[in-house]
Amino acid sequence: MLDLVDVGKRSLEAYRGVAPDAQLDELHRLAGRLRGARCLHVNATPYGGGVSEILRSLVPLYNDLGLVADWKIIRGDEAFFQVTKRIHNGLQGSPGELTEAEKATYLGNSQINAGYCDDDYDFIIIHDPQPAALAALCPRANARWLWRCHIDTSHPNPFFWEFLEPFLRAYDAAIFTLADFIPPQLPISRVLLHPPAIDPLSPKNQPLPVQLAKHVLEWIGVRLSRPLITQVSRFDPWKDPLGVIAAYRRVRPHVPDLQLALAGSLALDDPEAWEVYEEIRAVTAGDPLIHVLTNLVGVGNIEVNAFQSLSNVVVQKSLREGFGLVVSEALWKGTPVVGGRAGGIPMQLPDDIGGVLVDTVDECAEAVLRLLRQPEEARVLGRRGKEHVREHFLMSRLLLDDLRLLEDLVQQRPLAPRDIVPTTPSPVTSVEAHP
Ligand code: UDP
Repeated sequence: MLDLVDVGKRSLEAYRGVAPDAQLDELHRLAGRLRGARCLHVNATPYGGGVSEILRSLVPLYNDLGLVADWKIIRGDEAFFQVTKRIHNGLQGSPGELTEAEKATYLGNSQINAGYCDDDYDFIIIHDPQPAALAALCPRANARWLWRCHIDTSHPNPFFWEFLEPFLRAYDAAIFTLADFIPPQLPISRVLLHPPAIDPLSPKNQPLPVQLAKHVLEWIGVRLSRPLITQVSRFDPWKDPLGVIAAYRRVRPHVPDLQLALAGSLALDDPEAWEVYEEIRAVTAGDPLIHVLTNLVGVGNIEVNAFQSLSNVVVQKSLREGFGLVVSEALWKGTPVVGGRAGGIPMQLPDDIGGVLVDTVDECAEAVLRLLRQPEEARVLGRRGKEHVREHFLMSRLLLDDLRLLEDLVQQRPLAPRDIVPTTPSPVTSVEAHP
């Protein structure tokens, strides 16, 4: 068996009053037709990064709606994750080529994981390139295979794309964040667009009492008597942490007591993060106003929540970005965001909503300075950003996108009767009568 990730129990009804009612009602209506459908989500890591963040919320909600959903992760050694990080970067356009040894590492590891795929599911949703070969290596008669690609594959390096493409032929559908990300020559005819979403009820996104938030940040050395800008991100060159530091240093002469926090997690499947982390430490050494913090020194959900809630401005200066959940997370707390014009960030920051889009270090510095000097403008942008997130980027919307697709696939090919397991009707089935 692949390793099962333990998830909590959640109730969709808890989102009533937070997420739009229309989304919740539609979800109950759709779920009636999918009750008992068995769904498996597979990715590479149970923590660190946006995909695990989403699955931790999404999978329990599938179960609450009467589907039978699991989240499992593939296994892999360091060599495998080195290769998958190179594939990730190559698919986002980095130069280079995979060696034959690297291809063998990917294939060998995928075959081992395929050997663990011994469960029978109606839908298997594979996230990102790390487990992508599974569909080709462990076909199941009853399963519909979906490839959920979270990264920007609009201009993949052809060497990497040609390697991955044959594995993708086994999929029934592909899901991307943006139409722009659909790679040329995708061998999957059915393609859908489901932008990611945040969970407003997760510990990271629930409102924190201000005193507690202040205490949490002061505990780790942030001084709240001084202004603060923050970037919360994996330590990754695409997130441009060095660009953030450069922009901060351009603002600092105008706001001498300004602090910068760079909070980053070091994920299991991301060996490159350590190198970036060391680089950041080297260029920030000796500056007491720059806080470089990681999950290893205790920066978890509550700390991220406090940073996103109390920063004057959140920065996400990505050069390439799949979606950038951190943008919606900050907006949900009413905090304005200065974001790189990359991937999914512009859809979260449309004109005059949420913050400012930037292309360069200079523009980033200018936008940060403007928002620090104009707190009223910053507040209005943040408030509009929150409403934009409520409508478009909460988990209920993503769940709805997913269930619509599953329902459509079931209409084309009904679930085999033996697949439909009786489940206790959820207490909210009556909502079906009021679609
Ligand atoms: N994150 C975190 N701690 C960190 C850095 C990131 O909890 O130190 C979380 C962040 O809050 C967000 C996710 O990891 O929920 C990152 O998702 P995003 O889509 O922004 O970027 P990805 O890492 O998937 O490229």
